[in-house]
Order: sequence, then structure tokens, then C-alpha cells
Amino acid sequence: MDAPSLEILWQRSAVVAGEELCQHEPPCVPEKYVVTCRQVHTTITCRICGGSAFAADWGGATCSECNSVSVLACPTREELQTFYETFNKTYYGGGRERGSKERQRRYAMAYLAAVGRHTHPGTLLDVGSSTSPFPDAAAAAGYRVTSLDFVRPPTLRDDVAFIQGEATPRPELRAGFETVTCFAVIEHSTAPRELASALVSYCRPSGVIVLTTPLVGDYWERNTAGRSAWFGPPEHLHLVSRRGMELLFCGAGCELVDYRRLELSTPRWVARYGIAAVEGLCGALMRAATPSRWLARRNKHVAHAAPIALYVFRKQLL
Ligand SMILES: [Zn+2]
Repeated sequence: MDAPSLEILWQRSAVVAGEELCQHEPPCVPEKYVVTCRQVHTTITCRICGGSAFAADWGGATCSECNSVSVLACPTREELQTFYETFNKTYYGGGRERGSKERQRRYAMAYLAAVGRHTHPGTLLDVGSSTSPFPDAAAAAGYRVTSLDFVRPPTLRDDVAFIQGEATPRPELRAGFETVTCFAVIEHSTAPRELASALVSYCRPSGVIVLTTPLVGDYWERNTAGRSAWFGPPEHLHLVSRRGMELLFCGAGCELVDYRRLELSTPRWVARYGIAAVEGLCGALMRAATPSRWLARRNKHVAHAAPIALYVFRKQLL
């Protein structure tokens, strides 16, 4: 028997909490549900697919259609500016400070290997480089690299061109690059759909767009009895599922040509995705046995797993 859907669980949790009847006319849910409107009606529009996303106390909403997570209230421009003014000084490549330089170098080489599987050295635009050594590594490998970011990375090589600003559609960059890369950036965006369409606009027809972002919405994450550890405004605002990524990029004229769970080595891969599988399996069993307990736990706890997905899209010829 399939576990109840998220929507049904939300309604059941409202029954458990049952404080008052729905005051809306006509009632928004079947009368047999004694509900708190606050719980059942707090849905927002998924900023990835436009579907219905259920809000939770931790500040995010999970889409019932694409399983992506959208922040309930986006930070203001001023809040983001203040946050990112100091971001590069304290960012250690998604982890602790110790060994961060070497880890970032290894990630940059893994990104370069992914790029190399689908394209040859040519023009490359890296969006949101931050402190990653990837632009320098790509330049050393023979790519003609441009970096686009709010702040110029301090270590950028002289032969890497730099454009300061936001990743919005720009006429001067239109179809200007054979490869567009955007590693660990889309989760920071207040407007992921607009960012995706800007990335597609920078890419030449038959060129590739290579991205990484936290993975949500696969079987393991969907069933884990804890929300994704990757969610955390003002830093991570939108966690886009594989289905969400396909909607964003395939809807803009691209084709998914590569998808994988990213790690630097086989032992690290087994550790990272082993944790995700164990949490997901335990969660699936709990969800089948005691669905309301599972939902309460998912909203209260944070998962240990931190899966990362790598996507390669090819822009189709017009
Ligand atoms: Zn959605």
C-alpha cells in the first residue's frame, strides 16, 4: 500500500491539531476534517513549477507537484546585500574551514571533469564563482573564461574576464558562450526561474549548461523524517528537485544530457549517499506505519544527509 500523499498528511495533521472549524465559505476542505485554517491553508505558489507548496514552521514550503522547496518570504535586496558583502570572507566551499582550500580545489577539478565530458575548450561563462578556484582551473585547461558575480573573486587569474553584477538576461552576453557553468548558486537565488532563463540565454545553441545544486525530492529525501539540511535563509532559499530542474531548463529549450549524485571519491560517495539512503528507508517505514508522527518529525527535525546533484543540459538548436 502506498503511503498517503503530503496533502492528505497535512490534512490529517490538522485533524490531530484540531482547534477550530474552517471559517471559509464554502469550507476549503471536506467537512469531516476539523481543521485549523492556518495549517491547511498555508500554501504558497511553488517558485519553480507554479504548483501548490505546503508551508511549514521552519520557513519553507514543499511543492506537492515537483517536490522542490521554496522559502516562504524572500529576504529583501538590502538584507541580501548585507549578507553577501561578507559572504566570501567566511565561505569555505560548503563546509568547515579546515582543509577548505584543498576541498574546493578538488570540487573545481570534479566540475572541470564534468564540463570536459560534454564540451571542448572554448568560451566559458562561470556564474556566481564566489571563492571557487573553478574559473582559474578552467582557464588553465584552455577555456576562455569569463566570471560573472557580485564581487570579483580576489584570486582570479588575470586572463579570466570579470563582469560585476547580477545574472539577468543581458543583450551583450546573449548566446555568447559555448559553456555556461553555475555551481552551487541556484539555491541562493530569490528567483530561480529567472536565473535559469538567464543562464540559457547566455548559452549558444548546441552549447552546454553545467550546474550543481542540493538534491531534494528523490525517493530518499522525500521520505526522510526530517527536512533538508540544505535549507537556510538568507543563504539557501530554493532547493530545486530533479523534476524542477527539468521544468526550468527543458522548458527553456534544453535537454538533460547528464545527471548524477556528486562526490569527490567513491568512499565519500558511499558515505554521503549511504546516509541519505538509510535516513530515507527509515523514514519510509515510519511514514507507512505512523504517517502523522512521520510528518510531525519531518517538520521538526533536520536530516543528516546532504545530497548534491550535478546536471548537464544541452541547449537545442532553434
Ligand atoms: Zn513545484
